[in-house]
Amino acid sequence: MSAKKSSRHTPCAVRRRGSLNRRRFLATAGAVAAGATVSPASGVAEGKTDAFSFRRELPLHKPYDVVVCGGGPSGTAAALAAARDGAKVLLIEGQGQLGGMGVSGMVSEWLGGDNGGIFHEFATEAIDQGIARLSNWGPAFDPFAMAHYLDGKMAEAGVDVLLLTQAVDVRAADGRITHVVIFNKSGLAAVPARAVVDATGDADIAARSGCKIVKGRESDGLMTPTTLIFHVDNVDETALDAHFRKQGDRLLGQVKQLQETGAWPFPYNRFITRKLNEDGVWMVNTVRLVGIDGTDGRSKSEGMVRGREEVQKLMEIFRKHVPGYEKARIKAVAPLLGVRETRRIRGQYVLTAADLAAGKEFDDIIGYSSWGSDIPDPKRPSDNPNRLRHRGHTPVPYRVMVPEPIENLICPGRAVSVDRIVLGSIRVMSPCMAMGEAAGRAAAMTVDGNRAFRDVDTQALRQQLPIGDPS
Ligand SMILES: Cc1cc2nc3c(=O)[nH]c(=O)nc-3n(C[C@H](O)[C@H](O)[C@H](O)COP(=O)(O)OP(=O)(O)OC[C@H]3O[C@@H](n4cnc5c(N)ncnc54)[C@H](O)[C@@H]3O)c2cc1C
Repeated sequence: MSAKKSSRHTPCAVRRRGSLNRRRFLATAGAVAAGATVSPASGVAEGKTDAFSFRRELPLHKPYDVVVCGGGPSGTAAALAAARDGAKVLLIEGQGQLGGMGVSGMVSEWLGGDNGGIFHEFATEAIDQGIARLSNWGPAFDPFAMAHYLDGKMAEAGVDVLLLTQAVDVRAADGRITHVVIFNKSGLAAVPARAVVDATGDADIAARSGCKIVKGRESDGLMTPTTLIFHVDNVDETALDAHFRKQGDRLLGQVKQLQETGAWPFPYNRFITRKLNEDGVWMVNTVRLVGIDGTDGRSKSEGMVRGREEVQKLMEIFRKHVPGYEKARIKAVAPLLGVRETRRIRGQYVLTAADLAAGKEFDDIIGYSSWGSDIPDPKRPSDNPNRLRHRGHTPVPYRVMVPEPIENLICPGRAVSVDRIVLGSIRVMSPCMAMGEAAGRAAAMTVDGNRAFRDVDTQALRQQLPIGDPS
């Protein structure tokens, strides 16, 4: 592994068919032939049972030590940690900005406690720069300023970033991923990678490389509802606070009355809103879309459309019935649907709520969550039937990030190997960043020592991490 940070270069070297450049390029660098079978899933060929196969030669991108797929809390931390440890890193992000759910999903408040390390660095710098401010739960931030801040952090560490780029497939041989296939406006390309971090939140790469995965609720595969977050400004906070003091901040009684008169047509029964870093600006986390599958293209598209419809209806209700919201305006609606649960890897270890209740100890803990289990029922979006019955914070052992059987792949963030009750605790952003940081450092270690993720010396890794119960 090169100890030097990578220099920035033109991303995705796509060449026109037959051009001199391309021939010379292919002669020296080779090309990857991609084969694919498109099945009727995701509405690609809805209603048809036949499949379509194609093969094509892809331009070969410059190689990297570590390719990180997904630039959310876990992916940005992983990319930064691996680059700071000397790896040449490419970070691939499907949206036009980094930050994942916190930025594109506009869930702009870091929860789960202070895990130290990169989380602490981001939080303190963002507060110092006026991008964030501490609320009683965690730092709340401006997503637009945060996207710009993250660009700077990646550039500073020499992480090569490709935005508006999807990781669509992999080539794997002998239990290792050799290439990540990406797609963006330039077309398809193959990126040679020595280690891969799947930080897509949905275990896209693990699923596409044949790793063991599960999806949704253990009994029936159903997943917790999705949410389209929106931000409002011009909220009269004095009036809203007074209303909350009378009604409670979830407005349960008022929503019940509205339901009885038919003025509240939704299957959820509470108003969930949080103040952000500027006065008068609030995040609304009230919409709950039942039946959306965040791994299905058509379903996700439907979620955006249904979500926008509900945002408009909710705002009409709030303006009419919630003191303080009379003159509120929609500031922005998230460009990314809020998905809490999809696939999880079945990794080296599956952490369960029963483990935690039994007080099981782990010697490879890499982070913690101070958040309780928050994973609403798939059909009854206001019910959160799961409770964690352990004292203290939820630990995250390294092994839950290591999928089977691909040996150069690690999967930090929302798609780790846990049961869904534990997922409800560790899916918030501070533990996701702690997982990303550990995964990035582990990736640099595997590249350095030519090792599998399962063979990483977790005691040596832990010595490099700021592990302690989050405050
Ligand atoms: C509605 C809602 C409210 C929440 N509220 C809070 C809260 O208040 N505070 C809190 O701390 N947490 C909250 N969470 C949880 C938290 O935001 C997420 O669980 C966390 O962001 C997960 O981090 P991640 O890095 O695993 O994935 P994500 O944040 O989902 O990031 C994944 C990134 O990968 C990209 N991506 C996905 N697939 C691909 C691909 N194939 N190729 C390229 N890029 C890809 C996505 O665009 C995204 O940017 C909330 C979640 C939801 C859905």
